[in-house]
Amino acid sequence: MRLKKNEKYVVFGAEEWRVTVGKLYEVAGKVCGRALYDGGLVKGRKLAKASKLKSMAEIESVLKNENLAEQVQVERDIILVKGSFEGEALKPSLKPRCFYLAGVLAALYSACSGKDVKVEETDCIAMGKKECRFVVRELKWYEKMKEVMEVI
Ligand SMILES: [Zn+2]
Repeated sequence: MRLKKNEKYVVFGAEEWRVTVGKLYEVAGKVCGRALYDGGLVKGRKLAKASKLKSMAEIESVLKNENLAEQVQVERDIILVKGSFEGEALKPSLKPRCFYLAGVLAALYSACSGKDVKVEETDCIAMGKKECRFVVRELKWYEKMKEVMEVI
């Protein structure tokens, strides 16, 4: 992990993540997932820029370097991830829990493809699956407008 000189960092261990984010899910539900996704987008854009990412084949090393995942396999619009930090920390769950990672993946995918995309997790190790499965799809024009309107 490359640290910038003029930025402050907080290191969250798995236990702190589990307690903090677990509590946020309890009180904020979907809003918590959306906030984590947006935070992941910010992180992903920084990572794409810092690593000069050119292809999705390079994302495994980027995510491993950040301790966000151990293994990544990209097949067109499907991304399979083993060892997600988030999923591991938020076990057990009935729903996918890797919203931050989904945001990071969306930003990395967008940086490589030049397309605005949304990434949704369909299977998660937090649910007892062997890996997390993410589906990438291009944003429709009205979804892009919605994103802009939410920022304003
Ligand atoms: Zn997951």
